[in-house]
Amino acid sequence: MSMKFSQKKAVSTKELFRAAEFENILKCVHCGLCLESCPTYRELDDEKDSPRGRLYLMRGLWEGELELEPAVLEPLSRCLDCRACESACPSGVPYGELLEKTRGIILENSAQSLKERVLRSLLLKGLFRSTNLLTLASRLLKIYAATGLPKLITKTFVGKLLPESFVFQQHLLPDCSGQSFKRKHADQVLSPLSQEKLKSETQKSKTQLRVGMFSGCIMDVSEAAIHESTLTLLRRFGCEVVVPGNQVCCGALHVHSGDRKTSREFALKNLKAFEPRHFDAIITNAAGCGAQLKEYHHLFSGGTTEVKYDWAGFENKIVDILEFLARFPEFMEKLDWREEQDVVLYDAPCHLMHAQQVDENPRKLLSSLPGVSLVPLQESNWCCGSAGIYNLVQPELSAAVLNRKTESIRQTLFENPQATTIVTGNPGCLYQIRAGIISKDIQLRILHPVVYLAERLKKNGS
Ligand code: SF4
Ligand code: SF4
Repeated sequence: MSMKFSQKKAVSTKELFRAAEFENILKCVHCGLCLESCPTYRELDDEKDSPRGRLYLMRGLWEGELELEPAVLEPLSRCLDCRACESACPSGVPYGELLEKTRGIILENSAQSLKERVLRSLLLKGLFRSTNLLTLASRLLKIYAATGLPKLITKTFVGKLLPESFVFQQHLLPDCSGQSFKRKHADQVLSPLSQEKLKSETQKSKTQLRVGMFSGCIMDVSEAAIHESTLTLLRRFGCEVVVPGNQVCCGALHVHSGDRKTSREFALKNLKAFEPRHFDAIITNAAGCGAQLKEYHHLFSGGTTEVKYDWAGFENKIVDILEFLARFPEFMEKLDWREEQDVVLYDAPCHLMHAQQVDENPRKLLSSLPGVSLVPLQESNWCCGSAGIYNLVQPELSAAVLNRKTESIRQTLFENPQATTIVTGNPGCLYQIRAGIISKDIQLRILHPVVYLAERLKKNGS
């Protein structure tokens, strides 16, 4: 969201940074090895829009040498929070954590425009807090799609009469289901669909693996195939699955835009929804949600009561569905897979690869499918420009970043013309890349990897 950079309480900025446990910023030795990994630096060719430049700005704020003024804050607001710089950094600078704390302080210490206050109240504090409102929005969008208006706008002369960004946003619309996945399955014990049951190795006497499924906010009411495929795969792998009905949004969109208060509220609700059920693992299928759930402890500083909760116990159970399935290659082999030849392109979502450091196992898992050749995209680690709501609040820079991604897809497809499908394990990336390839008329299906995996299972197999 655009920020109106008038300062509310300049005196307390330094104090807020001191209270935020910010010392890790000293790990940056200014070597610049992260620069070439940064999409905004590569697009804008400006040191201020690089990770090193932004760390200089954050350090200046922390040390009280800089003030909250546009020249400082605008480069920080242009960061995608893709965390490619973290993977490139040899000094272990926790860039994402530092940026998110900084954005929290900026939000607390800066006056917001009326437009921003309204957007925050309606979307982040209103819509994402209420399953009823999300379900209603999903139904309305489903009706909107059924009217044919998005197609009219994107495929006919009507689009030429409208702003380009509005036309592009039609491509971004999710495939809304009109119902909540967590309400559909709330708290039922969904038993394994295979004879063989996965066993927990962590217990003294081996017991059947029991997992919780995280359903998210937008994902809870859209792209139903992703959650249903995840559920099918888990059950076919021999797990008992429960979808807690009282879980809420992970809070990632909030924390990326500085609203740490709402994110803390969601963290506590999710801890209470999952932890009393003693799952062996908590499964996510959205890379952004997984990264957020694994880092809840970043939200609580030493002085708060909540810091004493067992965040590590909760976070250690969070596992991306692809990483989870990859742990059981013997089960993958036993399932009844279709064997037709297929070539699939793989996109690595930033929050899976950089924030969760999960990259090799999803590739191995998909490559192990009979008949499937997996081809990583050229520049697979280049961000797609989605980054939560970045594509809505920084549309031009997001479009430039996406353009480079779609050109990589076009080039990889040119070299692998048999490819039928591209897979990416984060819904935000899926919407963004889908919009990119449709608008550039690139002939490829785009799917979440779990939907592809479920498609490759023989319907009545084991
Ligand atoms: S963030 Fe890491 S890679 Fe980048 S300048 Fe600092 S120390 Fe070097
Ligand atoms: S998070 Fe991404 S956009 Fe931001 S500085 Fe790091 S590499 Fe650049």
